[in-house]
Amino acid sequence: MVAGESGLGKSTLINSLFLTDMYKERKVPNAEERISQTVDIVKHTVSIEEKGVKLKLTIVDTPGFGDAVNNTESWKHLEDYIDQQFEQYFRDESGLNRRNIQDNRVHCCLYFISPYGHGLRPIDVQCMKALHEKVNFIPILAKADSLTAAERQKKKQKIREEIKQFGINIYQFLEYDSDEEEDMKRQDQILKDSIPFAIIGSNIQVESKGRRVRGRLYPWGVVEVENPVHSDFLLLRNMLVRTHMQDLKDVTRDSHYENYRAQCIQSMTRMVVQERQRSLAELPLPLGIDPETERLIFEKDEELRRMQEVLERIQEQMQSSQKGGC
Ligand code: GDP
Repeated sequence: MVAGESGLGKSTLINSLFLTDMYKERKVPNAEERISQTVDIVKHTVSIEEKGVKLKLTIVDTPGFGDAVNNTESWKHLEDYIDQQFEQYFRDESGLNRRNIQDNRVHCCLYFISPYGHGLRPIDVQCMKALHEKVNFIPILAKADSLTAAERQKKKQKIREEIKQFGINIYQFLEYDSDEEEDMKRQDQILKDSIPFAIIGSNIQVESKGRRVRGRLYPWGVVEVENPVHSDFLLLRNMLVRTHMQDLKDVTRDSHYENYRAQCIQSMTRMVVQERQRSLAELPLPLGIDPETERLIFEKDEELRRMQEVLERIQEQMQSSQKGGC
């Protein structure tokens, strides 16, 4: 998922990342349309091939986020979308065909931060804090070509400090044991130090030093999207589709989805208990009730009792598997 205020280059980056133009037919809304526009969630599926491995990726764009005059809870649409995917997965998991579940859970959210402000804006803090228990956030410093190298470092530092100061949980890169490969450790340290990834996006190829490259052509020169000196684009792409895709999915499954599932089961248990108490309170049955109604009530009560037992068992299993996991 990509999120952040509009105009920061979200769709351009997605096109740059997966070398497609998914927005050929996009109509940019005019000011009037934008005012009444609610947040539209747009979903795209792209197939990419990395070193012979075919991947089907779903990218969820959230245009217009933060555009309105009143942005209170404008991230609610993102939250609803994330919850809906969890809910669908929960239903599928409890259904009959558990082997072929299509996993549409949101495994990662690239959160775009403006390069023009002084670090995070209040809406960034509110949005990330509202959703950080539900999704893996990867912060992006957008349009990094508008900053000098020194400004970029300063801004990155400031954003990292603010993320810590406001208690925002972003995606944590893997911790390696001391005996693990030096190479991997070094790679991960580079990734950690690069947060937020400073990104430049472009949908066109330009001429630079006799080569055709994806970049942005300015009167004073060319910024190359894939040049590590200019932007962290390659670092981001590699981690997303090569090195960290599985870990992003694992964290979603073990942490974010597990939280959702536990909450769901708790509220279901609560409902069953309330229903049961209500039906018990209605007893003893009024005199003169016919035997058929009495039998139905008895059956209903038995059914509720069984459901409650099942839920309690699931809860116990979850608790013991969580303890085992720790
Ligand atoms: P979105 O609303 O966040 O999806 O933003 P768009 O991808 O539609 O980009 C908005 C404008 O910013 C377009 O004119 C892009 O060409 C431009 N843009 C996109 N990425 C960059 C970037 O990295 N640097 C600069 N300077 N402009 C960019």
